[in-house]
Amino acid sequence: MKIKIFNLSDGVHNFNFDEAVKNIELNEPFFGNILVEAELSKAHGQLVLSAKLTAKANFDCDRCNTNFDSTITNTYKMVYLSGMEPEESDSINVTYLPPDADKIVLDDDVRDFALLALPMKRLCNEDCKGLCPRCGKNLNEGDCGCNHETMDDRWLPLMELKNKINNN
Ligand SMILES: [Zn+2]
Ligand SMILES: [Zn+2]
Repeated sequence: MKIKIFNLSDGVHNFNFDEAVKNIELNEPFFGNILVEAELSKAHGQLVLSAKLTAKANFDCDRCNTNFDSTITNTYKMVYLSGMEPEESDSINVTYLPPDADKIVLDDDVRDFALLALPMKRLCNEDCKGLCPRCGKNLNEGDCGCNHETMDDRWLPLMELKNKINNN
């Protein structure tokens, strides 16, 4: 994913990319293609990129273990400055380009911001009911008949042990 900046006129330019995730070294849980809608504005020799990413990822739900696909989106802004990177620079939204740069390459930033957008909690649904701690049934598919009202977390290990013994 490259944008030629050599002789680019001032103003706003739009670029769309549709790239296989593996081409930018995005591995599991990502799959398929990543879409990048980029808007590059040039003014006074400064370049500002706004990018919107859309990718697909595949997860196992943290609660019920069901495998599901999810759409991952993120947006980021990147300012491109000409010159040497100052030593104390720690901004992740500024990239320094050599004075003779004729293109910008989006791959690394797109990969980083896609990874940042991965959720900490991976739920098939915000309201996923999870598995019954007693019998293991997926409660999204219906109730299992166990009494959940009186369940006390402190007894869970004991209940699981009891289930194991009963099942053997
Ligand atoms: Zn779930
Ligand atoms: Zn149950």
